[in-house]
Amino acid sequence: MVAASVRIHCAPWVVPVCRPIIVSGGVAIAAGKIVAVDSLQRLQQQYPQAELVTYPTSALTPALINGHIHLELSHLAELAAVPFSGSFTGWITRLLQLREDLGATGELVEQAALQVANQQYATGVSVLADIGNTMINQHFAGSFPGILFPFKEYLGLAAFTLEKNVLRLQQEPVDAFCSGHAPYSTHARLLQQLKARAVSLDHVFPIHTAEPAAEGEMIRQGRGELVDFVNQRGFWDGSFVARGSGGSINYLHDLGLLDARTLCVHAVHVAAEEIRILAGEGAKVCLCPGSNRFLSTGHAPVQQYLENGILPALGTDSLASNPELSIWREMQILAEEHAEVDTAAIFAMATLGGAEALGLGNRLGTLESGKDADLLAIPLSQEKMTAAQVYDYLVTTGSRLQPLRIQR
Ligand SMILES: [Zn+2]
Repeated sequence: MVAASVRIHCAPWVVPVCRPIIVSGGVAIAAGKIVAVDSLQRLQQQYPQAELVTYPTSALTPALINGHIHLELSHLAELAAVPFSGSFTGWITRLLQLREDLGATGELVEQAALQVANQQYATGVSVLADIGNTMINQHFAGSFPGILFPFKEYLGLAAFTLEKNVLRLQQEPVDAFCSGHAPYSTHARLLQQLKARAVSLDHVFPIHTAEPAAEGEMIRQGRGELVDFVNQRGFWDGSFVARGSGGSINYLHDLGLLDARTLCVHAVHVAAEEIRILAGEGAKVCLCPGSNRFLSTGHAPVQQYLENGILPALGTDSLASNPELSIWREMQILAEEHAEVDTAAIFAMATLGGAEALGLGNRLGTLESGKDADLLAIPLSQEKMTAAQVYDYLVTTGSRLQPLRIQR
């Protein structure tokens, strides 16, 4: 590689995520890849011919990753526009009703979805793991400037839905990404078929897991709010067998669904023993604190995940359960609700955690030689800050931060 093709982006702080913050640092890039991350002085010695681009009073960071979103629910924003005090199934009922009233597809739906996707990219998010039922995400996955995984979500708990769903799954093209909705809504055998397909294609397998406390009640005792809801809708036919004990992770583990390519989304009501199972299997977790706050579903055991070697990803979920879709705000909420968690770890969740959860750890998530040159320059408030203050600022400022995307 000729030195002249190298460009060095430099700033008072470089946040590689995989190692401590570099003061007066730089990121050398060439042909869309990072070639070195170091102090500016050393980079200039190494690449004396390189073009220099300076970002005063800024931090250079990797781009963010949104591990869980439903773009196709963006037109249902009125659901989360005002605080909600009802039950989890009350919210699902409202969502289904509004989607019936406004439609699940069409121009309104696509426009709202596209607007949110563009907002995500503009605020520094380069990867979206998007879950949909309508397939509209296939329409703009190709035009998203970053990476958009358009997951097609399967659900159906009753035995009479199983054959049709399995047949549909078998007919999916090999490049289609498929996910399961949740343990409370999706037949165990369908979940196993979905996971087997994902394994055979080396795809990530996302599933909403342990989001409301009622899922645990259903899994243990076969009763509660979710069972009543499924029953009212005519899908409670005895095909779900209560376990007597344990939780959602025990259930998924016993079904053979947990490995390093399984992404447990929400993962709020997870016991210590279940966290050890997740860690043992290398399974991934995606936290959605903004959605959990809106629906009052509880706080995930964040520090316990970290202590067991699990770095969760962060997701916004949809505008139907979160008034604002911003990974910056998700970090801010985690910091507010988990004062015990280091802000450096929270920033790592939004970057490295997301990249690893989506199988992109070799390309994104950190500033390291060999990775994609996908960087943000984030203006900070003062010229002098310690590393801890930089992390605190990045994590607690929320959606007021205005990152600048650095051209690859
Ligand atoms: Zn979701």
